[in-house]
Amino acid sequence: MGMRVLFIFLDGVGLGPDDPTTNPFCRASMPNLERLLGGRKMTAGAAPFDAGRASILALDPCLGVGGLPQSATGQATLLTGKNVPAMVGEHYGPKPNPPIAAIIREDNIFMRMVGGGKKAALLNAYPSRYFHALESGRRLPSAIPLAVTSAGLPLFSKEDFYSGDALSADFTGVGWRTMLGYDDAPVLSPQAAGLKLGELSQRYDFSMFEYWASDYAGHGQEMDKAVELLESFDGVLGGLLEAWDDSGGLIFITSDHGNLEDLSTRRHTLVKVPGIVIGRDRNLFCTGLTDLAGVAGKIEAEVRRQ
Ligand SMILES: [Zn+2]
Repeated sequence: MGMRVLFIFLDGVGLGPDDPTTNPFCRASMPNLERLLGGRKMTAGAAPFDAGRASILALDPCLGVGGLPQSATGQATLLTGKNVPAMVGEHYGPKPNPPIAAIIREDNIFMRMVGGGKKAALLNAYPSRYFHALESGRRLPSAIPLAVTSAGLPLFSKEDFYSGDALSADFTGVGWRTMLGYDDAPVLSPQAAGLKLGELSQRYDFSMFEYWASDYAGHGQEMDKAVELLESFDGVLGGLLEAWDDSGGLIFITSDHGNLEDLSTRRHTLVKVPGIVIGRDRNLFCTGLTDLAGVAGKIEAEVRRQ
């Protein structure tokens, strides 16, 4: 039987200092997130915390390797359960180099789900140009879609997005109109996108959603844009939590490294990342989870749990 897991991956989100001059989490109005965290803003002081519907843990993205954590090694660690920065001797990114790609292709959470007879999917939809760029070799896949295709699973397309079977990478679909040029793309409010995310996750034992705009906003260092993005994400969370059955499985939200929480630098940071676990039976999942390398094993155990 097992429990359902929805994994929301937020790129570049750390637990930063309580400083409204640099940390947009201190400025943004995020009532849905803050309700989960006992009324706190999501800064370093918010974790660890456990009450009501959720727990928040502080997870180590550095994994004993020097330098600033990066996306390829961080995401590969989340996907494989291995300490990939230690294996390749450095934090590396944003896209996987051949040694990191080989580690992902050999074994990852999507492959384990498929191998164990579980239904798994990445809920992001990709535009046609993404597939063309991959096929032509102009674009390297990032770690998460590489893990999906290594398991023989499809990446969702424009058709899946238009038919409501997948979600836009920005949650709402606005980017398909403004950045990708699809004038007729469906657009959802953040709340409706959250409801849709919850609804789609019910089709799978394990589903994942990759949100990269958070890291992009961190590199951009614009406070107003960062606050707007966080408030939109909070709307998504509100829609998701409204429909989510706490006894039916877990929602897990984490990141690969800090960035957005400190707009004083355009680089990644060394702070811990949040591990938010939502659902009634979350104790086992939370116990002993201290770093990114622990995540894949926890998800696998949860999906197989009787
Ligand atoms: Zn980055």
